[in-house]
Amino acid sequence: MRRRFFALIIAGVGGLGTLSVQAQSLSPVEYNNQGIQAYNAGRHLEAISCFEKAYQGARDNATVRRNLCNAHQARANDLAQENNLIEAARHLNLAIGIDPDNPSPLIQLGAYYLRMNMVQDAIFRLEEAIEIKPGDLNAHELLGEAYYRDNDIPSARAQWDYVLEMDPGRKDLRERYEKAFREESVEYDFNRAGSRHFRISYPRNMPYPIRSRVLNILESAYWDLGRKFGGAYPPAPIQVIVYEADQFSEATQLDGHVGGVYDGKIRIPLTDATGQFLPDDEIKRRLTHEYVHVIVRHLLDEKAPWWVNEGLAETLSRGPEPIDADLLRRALEQGVAFRLADLEAHQLKALRPDALRLAYAQAHAAIGQLWSRFGQQRINQFLAELAAGATPEQALQKVFRRTYRRLEEEVVAVLR
Ligand SMILES: [Zn+2]
Repeated sequence: MRRRFFALIIAGVGGLGTLSVQAQSLSPVEYNNQGIQAYNAGRHLEAISCFEKAYQGARDNATVRRNLCNAHQARANDLAQENNLIEAARHLNLAIGIDPDNPSPLIQLGAYYLRMNMVQDAIFRLEEAIEIKPGDLNAHELLGEAYYRDNDIPSARAQWDYVLEMDPGRKDLRERYEKAFREESVEYDFNRAGSRHFRISYPRNMPYPIRSRVLNILESAYWDLGRKFGGAYPPAPIQVIVYEADQFSEATQLDGHVGGVYDGKIRIPLTDATGQFLPDDEIKRRLTHEYVHVIVRHLLDEKAPWWVNEGLAETLSRGPEPIDADLLRRALEQGVAFRLADLEAHQLKALRPDALRLAYAQAHAAIGQLWSRFGQQRINQFLAELAAGATPEQALQKVFRRTYRRLEEEVVAVLR
């Protein structure tokens, strides 16, 4: 979810002419006018500084307060585009303090907290926004999303019901709503348990040792992988839903060849199609794979190229060698392998299962190659470049001195 909700209006101030003006400094009106100019030219930091000075001389003026608030919001928006959400949140907290009756910075902050997966903070801010301005559809939609991530599906649906009633054509929401509805029909009587960083929902008949083992594997991954990725510790609780195989297919609409998914919640089937529990090392591998996705989302939001995300998940859950090396070798010989550049997009669901297997093998081989040759720390630098907004190939060149083509050639050479 990455919309811009915030159409901000900056206004001139009238009736401030009689305020006391200190010698050699501008009046609040003049500072306000300077702020407007800076704002309109996109110089948001300068605008903040001007409105700040106007505000010092005219604290009770609603227009000045709103302008200063808007400038902080615009700056926050700039920072969010650079993925600097922590600093963006700082500006919004200032904005909220200056203009406490304005729901707009609360909603914006709620949206950023959701992007940071700080679900409880998001709920707090969005509920506050709705208290100030009941009926704001953006706030209700986001609050529904926050409840959903908190695994409170009935409350999420109540918010989304309202939004869809008011605006039936709401973009993308119908699809999300139906997804939640489908999941709820499978998970409604699941039990819940938790550890320090994870909340698990599980079918009532799931034996205690298995679900306890799931939490144990994830808590270990939290520390081990967090350390590997240079101190990457996503905010708790991280939601985990474990299923039997048929429940998994029903809730996610994914085929039997899919071993798990992370869509903001880790979802994993723990049985095979015959109802047998999977072996412990397979459960561990799947959980590790999905937990890598949690970390990548935490570090890169949605900026991770598909091949990097899946390549890391495969490499860290299986080691650097692709399991489908033969399949990959054949595809390379026949010239039907993908270009890495074509494996950047997030939605590869349209691929047929055999093509998808090949795509995974290529992602795995490419990251496996970089990982064995340069190690985890350089991979972390690569991710930092991506987080800062570099394109995948720019980041590849900067950190590994490789173009896509050269990396593809190396993968071929290693497989020979
Ligand atoms: Zn994956």
